[in-house]
Amino acid sequence: MSNIAKDSVVLIHYTLKNNAGEVLDSSSGSDPLAYLHGHGNIIPGLESQLAGKAVGDKLVAKIAPADGYGEHDPQMIQEVPKEAFQGAPEITVGMQFQAQGPDGAQMVTVTAVGDEAVTVDGNHPLAGEELNFDVEVVEIRAASAEELSHGHVHGPGGHHHD
Ligand code: ZN
Repeated sequence: MSNIAKDSVVLIHYTLKNNAGEVLDSSSGSDPLAYLHGHGNIIPGLESQLAGKAVGDKLVAKIAPADGYGEHDPQMIQEVPKEAFQGAPEITVGMQFQAQGPDGAQMVTVTAVGDEAVTVDGNHPLAGEELNFDVEVVEIRAASAEELSHGHVHGPGGHHHD
């Protein structure tokens, strides 16, 4: 398999920076990330730019929020009474919780702690950010039938099942 197409298993090394040039995430020093192309495993803006690439190809991708982790939605910021956190350890800014929202479980991040209330933000921490990826394609292989039925990659850099 020479070029990335739907149902390719793709291994990439990547570095993600914000517009200030700070490294937010990187696979450097660990296994490459493995994903199943065309199955929404990675953000759409990056997946579309990887289509057709070959092993050894490098790309620099600047991705708008809409093609990344979404626009920042102010309606996803809520104040929660402090009592709701009874029994939890001390609440500090930056803590993340799994919360039940109208669309099921979602991660929320504590953005402020007041005397009476805690402000939580249900946006992805990178919502509203332009994303700057440096990517190198390390390996491309065909997916197994099991990987296709699960919609993700198994083995190094992918999912591990018990
Ligand atoms: Zn699986």
